[in-house]
Amino acid sequence: MKEIIFDGVSKSYDKETTVLDNLNFKINEGERLVLLGPSGCGKSTTLRIIAGLSSITSGKLILGGEVANDLEPKDRNISMVFQNYALYPHMSVRENICYALKINKVPQDEIEKRLKDVLTTLKLEGLEDRKPKDLSGGQRQRVALARALVKQSDYFLLDEPLSNLDAQLRLHARKELVKLHEKYKMTLVYVTHDQVEAMTIGERIVLLNKGKIQMADSPNNIYNHPRNVFTATFIGSPSMNIIKSKVLDGKVYIGDHQVMLPENLQKLISEYEKGNVYLGIRPEYIDVAHEDKDNIEINVNFVEDYGNKLGVYFDLEGSEHVLLSDDKNIKNGDKLFIKFDREKICLFDIDTEENLEVLN
Ligand code: ADP
Ligand code: MG
Repeated sequence: MKEIIFDGVSKSYDKETTVLDNLNFKINEGERLVLLGPSGCGKSTTLRIIAGLSSITSGKLILGGEVANDLEPKDRNISMVFQNYALYPHMSVRENICYALKINKVPQDEIEKRLKDVLTTLKLEGLEDRKPKDLSGGQRQRVALARALVKQSDYFLLDEPLSNLDAQLRLHARKELVKLHEKYKMTLVYVTHDQVEAMTIGERIVLLNKGKIQMADSPNNIYNHPRNVFTATFIGSPSMNIIKSKVLDGKVYIGDHQVMLPENLQKLISEYEKGNVYLGIRPEYIDVAHEDKDNIEINVNFVEDYGNKLGVYFDLEGSEHVLLSDDKNIKNGDKLFIKFDREKICLFDIDTEENLEVLN
């Protein structure tokens, strides 16, 4: 039972500021979980609490069925890879990888077996005798992973381990990491501020903001059924459009244009008692359409070329929004008509910013 449970965990460094606010979530044995959120939201603190490097102010951390609040880091059976993974500069790749095993008096033949295994898995064969200074960034990063992996710990914690790599290497490394996990099936917690990394690595994502959990769910549910405006706009690029809309007699209007809703949202809005609502729609679910009273007229402010698609920016209800189009002929200043894919619309409470579907 190599699971991790946060049971009402809070953390403060001083009386005024709460860094983590009543975290409740469970990481299942063998799961690949991503902790995602903007810089400073408390991701590293959460990871350091699991590792025993930070103390808990209140609540319980349960590791493998036991309360672990006061357990020494060395007794937690954890491997951790940090963003600035410092390899030992005077040691070879082999020595770097085997150091912890030697200290823990693992038998030599077992060390050799594990070394061979991680060298193969991480494609480091032939580099065993090099020093870190004679490796590329990607190779160093693989040595850091190998050094953690070779310990075969129950829990594998990674804190933004790929952020020092260039974009292409990062893409490669994140695929390798997923394959590693498929092979070893350790309980893995991966910290990142990068939503694409989170979507591709996580079997489940816990999204944090200001020390509070915003949503904990599969990448698919987080993308398609975000709990609140923060989640909706943090995940996805360009972000989901959030359009302040009017509610009148159980119908939603953008300007004087009525927005057609699917049946379930129509029912929710007919019971909603406020005069405004936030309508959320992702850029890829807005289509350029023909001139028609049912379609909304816009003026193009700005166009961004992504190669395969255009990002088309326009103003609506006092703020700027964006749609993605395959039509590469759209230009600044064009007048267009747009319509929303009604099945993809989200509605958020104007005050609490919670998704009306999740609330009900
Ligand atoms: P993240 O990893 O999400 O960027 P951290 O967990 O490192 O965020 O930090 C969360 C918050 O806690 C930040 O506001 C940070 O300034 C604060 N913090 C982190 N470590 C300390 C510390 N030792 N003393 C006081 N505040 C800290
Ligand atoms: Mg951090």
